[in-house]
Amino acid sequence: MNKKQFDKEVARRRTFGIISHPDAGKTTLTEKLLLYGGAIQEAGAVKNNKIKKGATSDFMEIERQRGISVATSVLAFEYKNIKINILDTPGHKDFAEDTFRTLTAVDSVIVVIDVAKGVEEQTVKLVEVCRMRNIPMIVFINKMDREGKDAFDLMDEIEQKLGLRVTPLSFPIGMGYDLKGIYNIHKQNINLFTGASSKDIHSTTAIENLDDKLLDQLVGDKAAGILRDELELVTGIYPNFNREEYLAGDLQPVFFGSALHNFGVKELLDGFIEIAPAPRPKKAEERLVQPNESDFSGFVFKIHANMDPKHRDRLAFIKIVSGVFERNKAYKHIRLNKNLKFSSPNAFFAEKKEIVDESFPGDIVGLHDTGNFKIGDTLTSGETLHYKGIPAFSPEHFRYINNSDPMKSKQLAKGIDQLMDEGVAQLFTLELNGRKIIGTVGALQFEVIQYRLEHEYGASCSYENLNVYKACWIETKDVNSAEFKDFKRVKAKFLAHDKRDQLVFLADSSFSLQMTQQKYPSIKFHFVSEFE
Ligand code: GDP
Repeated sequence: MNKKQFDKEVARRRTFGIISHPDAGKTTLTEKLLLYGGAIQEAGAVKNNKIKKGATSDFMEIERQRGISVATSVLAFEYKNIKINILDTPGHKDFAEDTFRTLTAVDSVIVVIDVAKGVEEQTVKLVEVCRMRNIPMIVFINKMDREGKDAFDLMDEIEQKLGLRVTPLSFPIGMGYDLKGIYNIHKQNINLFTGASSKDIHSTTAIENLDDKLLDQLVGDKAAGILRDELELVTGIYPNFNREEYLAGDLQPVFFGSALHNFGVKELLDGFIEIAPAPRPKKAEERLVQPNESDFSGFVFKIHANMDPKHRDRLAFIKIVSGVFERNKAYKHIRLNKNLKFSSPNAFFAEKKEIVDESFPGDIVGLHDTGNFKIGDTLTSGETLHYKGIPAFSPEHFRYINNSDPMKSKQLAKGIDQLMDEGVAQLFTLELNGRKIIGTVGALQFEVIQYRLEHEYGASCSYENLNVYKACWIETKDVNSAEFKDFKRVKAKFLAHDKRDQLVFLADSSFSLQMTQQKYPSIKFHFVSEFE
């Protein structure tokens, strides 16, 4: 492949994630997007792998269906000669870390908001992560076929609660029972709402300008009058759309629609492919890497294990940052300083995965792994690069983990090791006595770990409660200072090492953390494992 063809392949890729609070309509929207790509034939093809009740039994059921959830981890399809890769982001809060990690592999996101519920808890958390990383965001306000909040109020709420700066690119004409259609501000056309839920692509009617009498004929005098007034307000209040600002994360365009009725989705998709970024450069510790560099590089952002209970294999998901990834070519695993070849790299399509010979920046490949990969690992053509930006966050729940079958201690150690590599939870080892502590984002994970240790590794464990408020990663300029030595001596009981052997302080309350911070001003306490 020559350079020109390669550049073209890079330029036509759009890799993004859809984020939302559970039930806002992420799965429904994903499915409708796939319909446009002709990637699936009917509704209901995308499995919703969310956990409804937060019950372990739900999770176990999902575990049983792992084959399916792997297939939906990445959904790729072509639309108007653009290769679109949608990365699945679990909405359930117990899996927030998985979502945070996936967000390191996207080039942009679509935020789905329920028009009636407005900004919800998980939306706030996920958007904050995107905002910190300046990820370009498009907002889709869903369920316009239902009564909900006034469009202006909702955009206010989005600005205030999410800290975004929005500008609508489409605007609803009525809502709920009175939803007449959507006006596309940019294209000056109207998509009329028929109410019929169908997968048909709704046709739009172009109007000359807002004074066009056709508008009144299409939606009625009253609705047309309201729309004219509202659009005047829009022009007065909101900034003009500017792609540079959007790409820099400084401006978020808003679309309205109903995923269920496949309404406004085409406008969203067309808008998306027009403005969303192609693969973006990524920071490695050593330098900034451009996607159209000829040498391959990529990083692991997700590991999915044991899909087939008969083989204990895992699939490591690699986001390609630069160059072409080729089958059967040797690449360097930087952490292990070892060359590896992959004979059957998987690429993901809407409903299936397939072995591919070549993949390009923006694409995700799934590599079969027998234990070489950890989340965050970098793979290159030879250059030493370490991609940054997959930090661990302080867990919310902590427990001692004990071996309850002395004959199986090896299995337990291996099981814990591998589950931690997958990022299911974090392991801390106490400095004082070597006891092991598991930290998780949600309480659900403890049962999942126990279940998986038993079923996949034949090991059994028990837990013991432990009172920890937060894990803080410790940074000091001088390990030999009297202050640091005093800290290590006085707080010895609360010090542990994480999997990367970084020093962690396990604070038992917010008060004790505050006191410790005051007492040792030269030491920094971080709530994430990566800091500049
Ligand atoms: P997710 O949890 O964000 O993936 O949400 P789902 O896509 O599973 O949707 C949650 C519920 O909302 C389902 O019952 C959907 O049928 C419903 N839903 C999704 N989009 C719409 C919409 O545009 N209008 C209406 N009325 N319901 C919707």
